[in-house]
Amino acid sequence: MLDQFDNRLDPSFAPVDRARLIARLGAVLPAGGLVTTTEGMRVYESDGLAAYRGLAGVVALPRDAGQVQAVLKVCAELGVPVVARGAGTGLSGGALPSPGCVLLSLSRMSRILSIDPEARTARVQPGVRNLAISEAAAPYGLFYAPDPSSQLACSIGGNVAENAGGVHCLKYGLTVHNLQSLDIVTLDGEALTLGSDALDSPGFDLMALMTGSEGLLAVVTEITVRLLPAPTHAQVLLAAFADLRHAGEAVAAIIAAGIIPAGLEMMDRLALGAAEDHTHAGYPRDAAAILLCELDGAEGDVGAELARVAAVCEAAGATSVRLARDETERKLFWAGRKGAFPAMGRLAPDYYCIDGTIPRRRLPDVLETIERLSRDHGLAVANVFHAGDGNLHPLILYDANEDGGIERAEALGGAILELCVAVGGTITGEHGVGREKINQMCAQFSTPEIETFFAIKSAFDPAGLLNPGKAIPTLARCAEFGAMHVHGGKTAFDHLDRF
Ligand SMILES: Cc1cc2nc3c(=O)[nH]c(=O)nc-3n(C[C@H](O)[C@H](O)[C@H](O)COP(=O)(O)OP(=O)(O)OC[C@H]3O[C@@H](n4cnc5c(N)ncnc54)[C@H](O)[C@@H]3O)c2cc1C
Repeated sequence: MLDQFDNRLDPSFAPVDRARLIARLGAVLPAGGLVTTTEGMRVYESDGLAAYRGLAGVVALPRDAGQVQAVLKVCAELGVPVVARGAGTGLSGGALPSPGCVLLSLSRMSRILSIDPEARTARVQPGVRNLAISEAAAPYGLFYAPDPSSQLACSIGGNVAENAGGVHCLKYGLTVHNLQSLDIVTLDGEALTLGSDALDSPGFDLMALMTGSEGLLAVVTEITVRLLPAPTHAQVLLAAFADLRHAGEAVAAIIAAGIIPAGLEMMDRLALGAAEDHTHAGYPRDAAAILLCELDGAEGDVGAELARVAAVCEAAGATSVRLARDETERKLFWAGRKGAFPAMGRLAPDYYCIDGTIPRRRLPDVLETIERLSRDHGLAVANVFHAGDGNLHPLILYDANEDGGIERAEALGGAILELCVAVGGTITGEHGVGREKINQMCAQFSTPEIETFFAIKSAFDPAGLLNPGKAIPTLARCAEFGAMHVHGGKTAFDHLDRF
């Protein structure tokens, strides 16, 4: 975490005459394809991490890949940085405008181009909303599996750039596992297709490299996603626990029993109470934690597996276990979970969502350590997360209007991420590094690893114009931050090695 105004992170580029840039872009975009006024550009000044804000030099709104190519060629020629933006729901400041940049919004490229029920694929433009793909595939009995909780709003292009996850990813894989091919445009305006209709392609897997590259390598202009047959039956079990440790142990035990749920999510007392107030899902308010465990497939198999999940939860100390009464209640249980982030507004003026991943078996210890850190830092933390993946989302509750409010939240967030690394996890599970976690990259990776990232970046974008100052820290930055790569040095969490 860091000061958003720390402009040492923004590499400096030679100043460009703004009027000339606008004239050049105006010549390659249709009327209304540029936003140049300060008020108009305010809409694009942050993503979902609203504490970080910046104004672009100009906002470009292309309608097709040809216009993206033309915009990028102008930027390459004039040496202007470019920040791609989907729906702006990112939570790591990935789409935060760099000073003077062209903010390339893909929101007008929002057409579903075709659905092929036989090949089970959908060809879509990058601005298509995640949920819209499953809605369009539903008449064919198909669906697109990765389902971020933001799926009503977030774009598939942003999902590719972040390698987004979601409730279903435990069983069906992340975005990277559900792609067939990508069309991209590089900074010099070259259009490439990565992947193919076949399950595998010769050569390096550049499609996988592009997925999760956070707009640093190229702009994604078309995506062919894989669709899956919609399960004939789905049922969700709600297990309540009197403490977090037992809930964490149940998660590890369910997976260890060889069960692969379609979703396995946890909410602690604070999160489930707020979600209950918000959605009235019927969660037990007196529980210290609940698990939502969904099974899907043939009805008989689902019933048998659910009985096993119930037995595992009871053995782990669940105080109650129950199934959704019907489809309406099943959807309500999930609506509560998916609305849990917005529900935080009931608890505090602001929340800061952390996204770290840990080995599942460390869940009980890590949840207890987060409780301790929360007390030490004097800030409440609500936990609502993809427990089956070990993907934590501690939501730090704070008030940005209080003196030092953001800084205290950031300090606690940084400590939680370092804890994740110390127990063998990672500093991001699905939200990306963006601007927010650039310092923690120094904790995660060694110097040679960071040099390799830069070598890959330079192969695609030698001038460093695509989304500069994001995702990969310079080595100077790491030195300044304290070169705290944990495999080489000590951290405040070394004591956790004993677990
Ligand atoms: C309430 C809430 C819940 C969330 N839940 C989840 C969740 O369960 N799982 C999850 O993974 N995430 C979740 N997120 C985070 C966010 O929705 C995802 O990261 C999503 O993938 C971002 O998509 P977007 O279209 O909003 O991208 P943006 O925020 O606009 O951009 C994200 C990054 O992608 C780059 N980018 C965008 N489009 C392109 C493109 N076409 N080509 C190249 N680069 C591009 C941007 O430069 C930026 O670096 C949640 C967010 C919120 C607010």
